[in-house]
Amino acid sequence: MTNLRIGHGYDVHRLVEGRALILGGVSVPFEKGLLGHSDADVLTHAVMDALLGAAALGDIGMLFPDSDETWRGISSLVLLEQVGCRLRTEGFGIVNLDTTVLAQAPKLSPYRVRMAENIARTLGIDPSCVSVKATTEEGLGFTGEGRGIAAHAVALVERTK
Ligand code: MG
Repeated sequence: MTNLRIGHGYDVHRLVEGRALILGGVSVPFEKGLLGHSDADVLTHAVMDALLGAAALGDIGMLFPDSDETWRGISSLVLLEQVGCRLRTEGFGIVNLDTTVLAQAPKLSPYRVRMAENIARTLGIDPSCVSVKATTEEGLGFTGEGRGIAAHAVALVERTK
């Protein structure tokens, strides 16, 4: 039997005025930001759910409920670090992560490498093991209309014990 396990994460946050736009721990200059209980880093949230899914350890709503004031305004990288620790404790190593951010604007290509580096550093893995991609949805749907940003993530993990 293989020790490899795959997980998928998906998240959406609404774009509103008066909030910073944080993606993969990078503050991206834009006229709007994502609304949420934490910093609403939709990319990092998708990554956490992919990792938790691969290890069958639940989801971020279970680990960090938005009814808990502890997590208000917190950097999602802090939460990601805890997810990484949880996986290690449960005997899982991270093989690689692949992600896609769906946003009509702003253009994310200048920030992709920094986002991947932040995620990799937080998880203690090599930056070459983290891929951050971005696409628009051609003006269609809620991302295309600029009402929100979505992110998908796929994680491969390996049981190490
Ligand atoms: Mg979220």
